[in-house]
Amino acid sequence: MLSRTSVSRMPSRWMMLFFIVLVANLPDIDFLFGWSVGNPNRYHHLWTHSIVFAVITGVVVGAVYSLFTRKNGFKMGGIAAGIVGSHLILDFFSKDTRAPSGMPLFWPISSKYFLSPVVLFQDVHKASSNEAFFGSLVCWHNLWTLLIELAILMPLAIWMYVKYGKASRTATPP
Ligand SMILES: [Zn+2]
Repeated sequence: MLSRTSVSRMPSRWMMLFFIVLVANLPDIDFLFGWSVGNPNRYHHLWTHSIVFAVITGVVVGAVYSLFTRKNGFKMGGIAAGIVGSHLILDFFSKDTRAPSGMPLFWPISSKYFLSPVVLFQDVHKASSNEAFFGSLVCWHNLWTLLIELAILMPLAIWMYVKYGKASRTATPP
């Protein structure tokens, strides 16, 4: 039976959802770097879109989790690294017309860019100036991109929820 203390240390379902959404979008924090110089696209698809960044995120999340809960943060760190990895996989299979296409997945060992020859997802149209950036996201092309992503990923998400959601409700927290 769980004690009152251990229950309060468990991440709630909503906290976990917030954490997943935050970490899943973390590589795109590079838009903010560009924003600071007036062009949100300027530093997009650089080092935050690399395997090393996924590992660093995992280490930091694991350490912070361990610090606050006094539990082993290895599993939570692994989950965080995996979530960042899923972002890289999605971008890898997305159309990218901006040179150099793809991502420097093996930065800093190699600065070579990688992109799948098979395109599953469309690109997102976005302006290169701070003023026009958010307005440019609202267009039919981006709606179509979103619908394709949902059509491909929603069945996968539902399958995972059905398969693993039941188990996570009965399992002990990481
Ligand atoms: Zn990205």
